[in-house]
Amino acid sequence: MRMSNLLMPTLREVPAEAEIASHRLMLRAGLIRKLAAGIYSYLPLGLRTLKKVENIVREEMDKAGAQELLMSALLPAEAYQASGRWDVFGPSMFKLKDRGDRDFCLGPTHEELFTQCVIDNVKSYKEYPMTLYQIQTKYRDEGRPRFGVIRSREFVMKDAYSFDLDQKGLDESYQKMYDAYNRIFTRLGLDFTVVDADSGAMGGSGSQEFMVKSPVGEDGIAYCDDCGYAANYEKCECIPQEVDQIEGDLPLEKIETPNAHTIDELVESLGMQAHNFAKTIIYKADDKYIAAMVRGDRDVNEVKLKNLVGCRDDLELAEPAVVRDITNAQVGFAGPINLGIPIYADKEVELMKNFVVGANETDMHYKNVNMDRDFTPDVVADIRVVVTGDKCPKCGGTIKSEQGIEVGHIFKLGTKYSDALGLKYLDESGKQQTVIMGCYGIGVTRCVAAAVEQLHDDNGIIWPVSIAPYQAIVVPANYKDEEQVNAAEKLYNELTEAGIETLIDDRAERAGVKFKDADLIGIPVRVVVGKKLSEGIVEYKERAMESAVDIPLSDAVAKVTEFIKANI
Ligand code: ATP
Ligand code: MG
Repeated sequence: MRMSNLLMPTLREVPAEAEIASHRLMLRAGLIRKLAAGIYSYLPLGLRTLKKVENIVREEMDKAGAQELLMSALLPAEAYQASGRWDVFGPSMFKLKDRGDRDFCLGPTHEELFTQCVIDNVKSYKEYPMTLYQIQTKYRDEGRPRFGVIRSREFVMKDAYSFDLDQKGLDESYQKMYDAYNRIFTRLGLDFTVVDADSGAMGGSGSQEFMVKSPVGEDGIAYCDDCGYAANYEKCECIPQEVDQIEGDLPLEKIETPNAHTIDELVESLGMQAHNFAKTIIYKADDKYIAAMVRGDRDVNEVKLKNLVGCRDDLELAEPAVVRDITNAQVGFAGPINLGIPIYADKEVELMKNFVVGANETDMHYKNVNMDRDFTPDVVADIRVVVTGDKCPKCGGTIKSEQGIEVGHIFKLGTKYSDALGLKYLDESGKQQTVIMGCYGIGVTRCVAAAVEQLHDDNGIIWPVSIAPYQAIVVPANYKDEEQVNAAEKLYNELTEAGIETLIDDRAERAGVKFKDADLIGIPVRVVVGKKLSEGIVEYKERAMESAVDIPLSDAVAKVTEFIKANI
């Protein structure tokens, strides 16, 4: 491809809303352009990379025995109404009506449709097991679209669904996808971790996420170097930690704590430590209210709590007016004694002695509180957020944490959708059974951004060969020097003939501009035909190398080809 013809609108300045490197670089390198919040077009270089990612995903899905099909993105409401998700998705589902006033949506994910497809088209148990997939555009009206295509409202997903006769079959189908995912993310050049994920809300029996490690990731990963355990924050089981307590059987005492609404203010005014307090937080859980208690220096893990409560919607903090109503006090003085709503206490609260809680009275707290003597929670369970330094739930080692970008998710669904929609089969003996499902997603467009996020330097993107929009670039240093231009053209033709996807920078620009652009768009290998051409020498530089090396022009095709073949 000739760069004089290439639609590659590189930018020097990017909008301030581009907060992270991948978003800035994808805009600067002319890969994407924004149309509206969370909605992007892919320009030629961006699309080439996107297609390469798609192809790697497709090859590995096919290798794992999955079959590709393609469904519509514009979907009738019925299947989602049958599963209950027409309501569950809430405002994140794009809903619309046709001219006949019938309900439709733009598909956010396709469990229901694939289930229906199998109901309609599979007639005998002998046709199972079966894994179907598509690479298709999804729509979610995200509350906070951001980070470019990492969290967008229109994005490409590979979604696969497995259909098995029994649990053992599901385990095997799941393992095949697990292995395929490992191959995919390795081929994409990503540094990733597989973590145990929460499966509560979807009602399945097991789930793992593939996380690309990155400080800008929105998901917390807890891991243990000693045994290799890794889980996302929502899932990671917390082992209660003992800390210094105030010993003795001290009598309950009500104390005045004017203007101390927060743990920090209490620590300051009472001269105690945060772990001597217990927070009581009131949540709205569907149509009722509950209280959660954790130690003062801990946070409530709302996903764990939601699973425990078993509610449909995500938990919401209760409105201040409701808190005032329930506690008969200003916000900041809620406590477990005589509260009048169900109390879910974290396991660590059980280990606490003579601690401080709100007194359900403005400007008042209780001290020397002891669980069971002064109040009895309805449920005691692990409901807190894991922290660095916690004990590993598997081996007792030390938990560390880092941030990650979720690029893939695999999930043992069980019978949630087959039950809801009626996907059954008659077994050998004529008995009716329910098909067992798994689902497996990859954020294809998110993978492109995650790769840029992980693989860049101050000068631009450093594409791995496998997904680079072009593999090599030939640059005649001086576009006015006919010999340089001719030699560069010849090299370009030879590389192209050798099967290397090559760019030639034939623009009437200074060499410096061309080098900057080649670095910015991240082409894995660059050959500059410059002054030393008269000695038969050109400059060879892999994008990841510090500086260029001189090589004979006659070796250039072989050297580039060898590098590309070794790294594809
Ligand atoms: P997240 O927690 O990031 O919102 P999710 O768990 O809702 O994602 P899934 O339903 O598991 O997402 O979708 C499968 C994959 O699709 C995710 O692993 C992710 O890579 C990708 N994905 C999900 N939402 C978006 C989005 N808004 N923009 C881009 N990719 C997305
Ligand atoms: Mg997910």
